[in-house]
Amino acid sequence: METKELKEMLFNKKKNGYSVITDEVKTAAFDFSEGYKNYLNNSKTERKAVKTSIELAKKAGFKEFDPKKSYNAGEKLYINNRSKAAAFIVVGEEDIELGATVTAAHIDSPRLDLKPNPLYEDIELGLLKTHYYGGIRKYQWTAVPLAIHGVFAKKDGSVIDVTIGEDENDPIFVVNDLLPHLASEQSKRPLSQGIRGEELNVLIGSMPFKDDSESELVKLNLLNILFEKYGVTEADFLSAELECVPAYKAKDLGLDRSMIGSYGHDDRVCAYPALMAITELEIPKKTAICVLADKEETGSDGNTGLNSDFLYHIMDDLCRAKGKSTTLALRNSVCLSADVNAATDPTFKDVMEPRNASYLNYGVVITKYTGSGGKGGTSDASAEYVGKVRSMLDKNEIVWQIGELGKVDAGGGGTVAKYVANLGLDVVDLGVPVLSMHAPFETVSKLDVYMAYLTMSAFHKEF
Ligand code: MN
Ligand code: MN
Repeated sequence: METKELKEMLFNKKKNGYSVITDEVKTAAFDFSEGYKNYLNNSKTERKAVKTSIELAKKAGFKEFDPKKSYNAGEKLYINNRSKAAAFIVVGEEDIELGATVTAAHIDSPRLDLKPNPLYEDIELGLLKTHYYGGIRKYQWTAVPLAIHGVFAKKDGSVIDVTIGEDENDPIFVVNDLLPHLASEQSKRPLSQGIRGEELNVLIGSMPFKDDSESELVKLNLLNILFEKYGVTEADFLSAELECVPAYKAKDLGLDRSMIGSYGHDDRVCAYPALMAITELEIPKKTAICVLADKEETGSDGNTGLNSDFLYHIMDDLCRAKGKSTTLALRNSVCLSADVNAATDPTFKDVMEPRNASYLNYGVVITKYTGSGGKGGTSDASAEYVGKVRSMLDKNEIVWQIGELGKVDAGGGGTVAKYVANLGLDVVDLGVPVLSMHAPFETVSKLDVYMAYLTMSAFHKEF
């Protein structure tokens, strides 16, 4: 055999997705990204993502799941977990004890949450105290236009929805930073301290209430505006969940429009493909489940996160109605933990180990293990399961790559994979490579997003 042929046969060569895909696939990828951008703009918080996702599912014929009912093959169901997490189910032909195909993505993203007592006035400006949510680089969140989303839960039981800053005519908000002229002391701080947690204060007003005899008139004026618009008082902030997120919309990025820039790709960039894949299913062999979880960015704790029994309960409800074993169903199920990985950035290549890093346009990334240090805090997917996933990807001509989250000991991270694995399922992380992950403006490639969709689709149909 010629050297060249032997190399072709034995070497594992990575290829840029654009050198492999047809024009039809490229067009399909660009078309898919239009729906995705729309989803991003309507899903800036976990609550908005649940609402948008359920609306899309209902249009595809999904009905609210009733745990007391037994369902037949082809029936499409959704579960709304406290308006902050959701699951979508298409009942399969096979006995549930033979297992389900599960995709799990998360719909919460790093952001600035308001504290319980947020509103204050200082030198006649009105501000909100925040507590950041998830892993952010704090300096990135200043001088960025912000919108506020969330709810006030009032004592009378009513829940008031709040969205300010998304409509073209809405006002927006901002965390201010020091001017360079006066930043000589601040500039000496290490980057992680450039802006401190207690400096992430959001400016929301400056006009005093018309009365010169009292103090805190700017705060009074702001509370009056909130009272007139939402019927809330300062005490109602105590039982509210209000989140500051970037106010801008998702946009095509690059002269060639090959990428999408947006807030919140992590992890809507996997949630949307997973949702699209399940909503388009007819009658799968195995029951298909798509979980869109909350709280991943803070460690998956809480009853809307996947370190709860949320997924267990879904499976238990499905099994009980049929008189089947939940344990067997879980043990025989397979899962794609659909989450992003860090794409290699040409400016910061040195945090990556190039042979095991992921790249933009090289397709969906399989991450066999996450964690930190000596694989601490991860569920390392089995060779056997990764082998099956690899085989499915190649059979369907899906562009894919394998990637680690950076160099050994460079840092680390985790996903929901280990919580799913704890229930006994086979699970591997698979998702889209992202640049500037966790920044207020993240970048992904359209080709990679589309490959994630093709993956989830093939997974439910073939596994
Ligand atoms: Mn994520
Ligand atoms: Mn994340």
